[in-house]
Amino acid sequence: MSFNLSSRLAERRAAHLYRQRPLLQTPQGVEVQVDGERLLSFCSNDYLGLANDPRVNDAFVEGVQRWGTGGGASHLVTGHSGAHHALEEALAEFTGRPRALLLSSGYMANMGTVTALVGQGDTVLQDRLNHASLLDAGLLAGARFSRYLHNDADSLRGRLGKAQGNTLVVTDGVFSMDGDLADLPAVCAEASGAGAWVMVDDAHGFGCLGDQGGGIVEHYGLSMEQVPVLVGTLGKAFGTAGAFVAGSEELIETLIQFARPYIYTTSQPPAVAHATLTSLHLLREERWRREHLAALIRRFRTGVDALGLELMDSPTPIQPIVVGSSERALALSAALRQRGILVTAIRPPTVPKGTARLRVTLSATHTEQQVDRLLEALAQAQQELIHE
Ligand SMILES: *Cc1c(COP(=O)(O)O)cnc(C)c1O
Repeated sequence: MSFNLSSRLAERRAAHLYRQRPLLQTPQGVEVQVDGERLLSFCSNDYLGLANDPRVNDAFVEGVQRWGTGGGASHLVTGHSGAHHALEEALAEFTGRPRALLLSSGYMANMGTVTALVGQGDTVLQDRLNHASLLDAGLLAGARFSRYLHNDADSLRGRLGKAQGNTLVVTDGVFSMDGDLADLPAVCAEASGAGAWVMVDDAHGFGCLGDQGGGIVEHYGLSMEQVPVLVGTLGKAFGTAGAFVAGSEELIETLIQFARPYIYTTSQPPAVAHATLTSLHLLREERWRREHLAALIRRFRTGVDALGLELMDSPTPIQPIVVGSSERALALSAALRQRGILVTAIRPPTVPKGTARLRVTLSATHTEQQVDRLLEALAQAQQELIHE
């Protein structure tokens, strides 16, 4: 017996599900070079345009000069530097929580938090459309694991009625492939009625939602009692890398003691944390980024509506156009690329079967003219596919 990798790969190719990595030859931005071609990109998560901001870049260089390059050890040994600590304090203040804990990625933050909070005899309930890292964390935790219907408080209530032990209700704040918001007031009301805790992963909300960029909890005005466990990531609107969990003193101490993806890994390069302090400052202060983004979102949605294409119920920079089959999504993406526009097709298993889509994302560094170029290219690409 041996591993038959070639047939597995061939099957994936035949199903139009094969993945390839576009090779980026410029810094992240709206105008990029990919595989030798100059393209206008509508598919990064750099929503505020901070990933290559000169002030963030300068802070990164300054961070290297001050703190060196490597983290050198895990946080519990000698890897917890002043740069990491200062960022944790700033993130605690930003989120209005007593403490925040910095981790190397959002994937690890979710793994670490869920597995530290629930185990055998407990229950974890998740929205069906939660991010893969949350679903993986739920499986790894060893608790009873059940998924409720997307944004459906009745479905959640039914599952809460059967829950055992400590119960954690987990949801994305902004759903990463659809762009819609979790109905957090309803989720929190159901959870508190059942004595459960709510954990929100707001990877796509921080920086985009709320007057200060405080994400979905600022948007809805929710307290720490309502959302005891708040996760944010730093690789999206913050434009750097890493993630944080914000909450009570006891929550953070529990994670430091028990979250294995926090304990058994080298701390992120301290210069990244140092640079993130600058991006946090820009994210809060430069409100024009959120305002411009909101204007682009309105412009794009009005334009797509006029083309008769189907939009999702999204008030965020994630504006997917659902086309159905993987083949059609790939064809539409290819037709846009011929017109100099980069929008990747998102296919199963990342999204449910039959809902392959173009995941258009907007950034504060796009201009209105660039959004118009996208709309024009979409109109042409759609015509071309109809007449094929
Ligand atoms: C991107 C994302 C993550 C993972 O964060 P990384 O820092 O990129 O590992 C987690 N949750 C959600 C909802 C995400 O969109």
